[in-house]
Formats: sequence, C-alpha cells, structure tokens
Amino acid sequence: MVADSQPGHIDQIKQTNAGAVYRLIDQLGPVSRIDLSRLAQLAPASITKIVREMLEAHLVQETEIQDPGSRGRPAVGLMVETEAWHYLALRVSRGEIHLALRDLSSKLVVEERLELALQDAQPLLHRIITHIDQFFIRHQGKLERLTAIAITLPGIIDTESGIIHRMPFYEDVKDMPLGETLAAHTGVPVYIQHDISAWTMAEALFGASRGARDVIQVVIDHNVGAGVITDGRLLHAGSSSLVEIGHTQVDPYGKRCYCGNHGCLETIASVESVLELAQVRMNQSMSSMLHQQPLTVESLCLAAVKGDLLAKDIITSVGTNVGRILAIMVNLFNPQKILIGSPFNQAAEILFPAISDCIRQQSLPAYSKHTAVEQTQFSNRGTMAGAALVKDALYNGTLLIRLLQG
Ligand SMILES: [Zn+2]
Repeated sequence: MVADSQPGHIDQIKQTNAGAVYRLIDQLGPVSRIDLSRLAQLAPASITKIVREMLEAHLVQETEIQDPGSRGRPAVGLMVETEAWHYLALRVSRGEIHLALRDLSSKLVVEERLELALQDAQPLLHRIITHIDQFFIRHQGKLERLTAIAITLPGIIDTESGIIHRMPFYEDVKDMPLGETLAAHTGVPVYIQHDISAWTMAEALFGASRGARDVIQVVIDHNVGAGVITDGRLLHAGSSSLVEIGHTQVDPYGKRCYCGNHGCLETIASVESVLELAQVRMNQSMSSMLHQQPLTVESLCLAAVKGDLLAKDIITSVGTNVGRILAIMVNLFNPQKILIGSPFNQAAEILFPAISDCIRQQSLPAYSKHTAVEQTQFSNRGTMAGAALVKDALYNGTLLIRLLQG
C-alpha cells in the first residue's frame, strides 16, 4: 500500500484485531458481541471497545437477532455498514481501462470501459489521472465518501511503493510512480497489485476458490501466468515476485520469447501464439471449419466444440502444454483446486480433460487424485480484482484503521 506510515507495535496489534473483528462481522453478520469475543479470541472488553469505534465511524451497525427458539428479548447483532463508503477500482489492460465505483460490500455503483491507446504522445501516468478525474466529474452525483483506490494491471510492479517498473503492451512505461502520484492527487490510500495475483485473491474472497486453503489459478490470455494460494495466503503477496509459469521452458527449440529465453510456455499458449499457430496449420488443412469465418478465439473454440479435428487438436495442445507445467506445480503445492481463467474456457470440454490427463499422468497420484480442475468465476476483465484488494485491506486492518481515524 502507498502513503501509509509504519505503525508501532501497539498500533499494529490494534490494526490486526480491528481487521479480524471486521472480517467476522462482514462474513457472519448479524453476529453478537459474545460470539465475536469467542470467535476472535479477544476479551469482551476489547470487543466492546473495537465495536464502539466502528459504530461511531459508521462502519458497523446494530440490528436485532431473534433466536427462533427463544421467547426472550431479542439479542443485539452487528452488521457491516457499507453503502456510505465508496472506492474506485481501476483496471488497466491491453488497449483498455476499466473504472468502477463500488461500495464497501463490493457492490457495483457504476462501471465504465474506455479505450486506452497503447501508444500516445501523453505519458500513460497522465492519461490514467485524466481518466480518473473525468470519471469522478461524470459520476459526482453518485459518489459517497471515497475511501481508497485499487488498481490492477499486468507488469513488473513494486506493490509496496506503487511503482510500475515495466508493463507489457505500453512500451513507454518505465518506473512509473503510479501509487505515490495518485495518493497525492486524491488524498486516499492507493492499493496496486499485479492483475493475476489480484484476480487470484478475488476468486478466493468472492468466487470459485472461496473456502479452499490451497489453490493454483492459471491464467491463459495475452499473457500466461499463475497465482498460488498456500495455506490460505497468497504466495508473494506484498512483493513484486510472481508465479512466472509463462516463462517456464516447454520447447527448448521453440520461438524466442521477449524475456530473452526460448520456447517459454507463453510463446506457445498465449492467445496470440495460439492464433498464429492456428493460422499456419489452417494452410495445411483445407477441410477445417476454421476457413469459414475470420479466425478468433471464439471461432476456434466454437469449431473445437463442434468437433473440428484441427481446432480440437490446437486446443488439446494448449491443455497439454499448460498441463505439463501444472503437473509439476501440483507436486510442489498439493492444491485442492486448480482454477483456469482463460478465453479458451469457451472450449472447456476439450481444454480441461487435456489438462487433467496431464496432471493425472505426470504428478504424484496421492496429490492429483483430490485435485479438481475448474473455471474461474470471474473473467480477466472488469474490476472484481480491485475489489479484492480493498476487501483484503479492510480485513488486514490497514484500510480499516484509516477509516476509524476519519
Ligand atoms: Zn519467456
């Protein structure tokens, strides 16, 4: 997170406890103070104090809980109060920017998708700030109190300092101080995370991997990468490191990759490489259905599902190449769940069995037998990934403490 001073030890404990209590109220509410004390393992006096501060700040509210079996006075339960607090979730991807206003329950107030030219006379930093300013002007009538800005994007990112060192697709980006500039411009904390890591957090908090302790999420899109949750925590959270499966070699004699090596998974399984390969192979297979319309991910997946041999073979090889790397990861992390987030999921009935076969044949049977391969709930678009960053900052207390202090 950007623009936050290091708290002292006591403040750190207060922050952690407040975050834990808020999480329980958010996930279980309405919940009584007695239950909170038991679940958070904090003394009743501590709960009373934390809850009082949250009530005064309008972050939680009281409500009656009537136990259906009892005829006594209803107990007082606590619920989060979310509608008066908004945040901006922003996503920069290839050629576009998504901006969304959400309330603290992650509910969408308004979302826009705008074009963002890959090259422009104006630096990307200026263009992002202009988009944010104009978005707030357009929607000022809907805006409640702004609490934070959450940004997700691809690239080499220092999440602590908010510096974007490099980005794919936007070649002019070099050490862009996005976090600091935006925090100074808006006066609210700015959370920045790599889009695949943030999407992995979003699936764990709101989506397909909710409740799972060990998860591998693979993204096959313009880039190929992964997020890993191990024992309930995102691997590499708070650092610029990523689970770079896209740059694992699958073909020693393969194409040169932009990372400097040869035959990386990304040069074989990314959307662009798969379409390029399909174009070459179409010339050798005149009977393929793929000749009937312009070649896109959609037409390729549709042809595969309809049984076109060439299209099926191409999707199966994507699954086999990704599956080979995943089999190694299964041995390393022993996940309960493997999530695949990809536009190729349109041909999931071809892609997933190819991936599962590799895992079953190439990883430890004791591990692979309880591993399920499933689709992500969200797509690699929109701003749920940003919503996950804000939820995480509330739960770990960093954002919550700022809101309590007003
Ligand atoms: Zn590479």
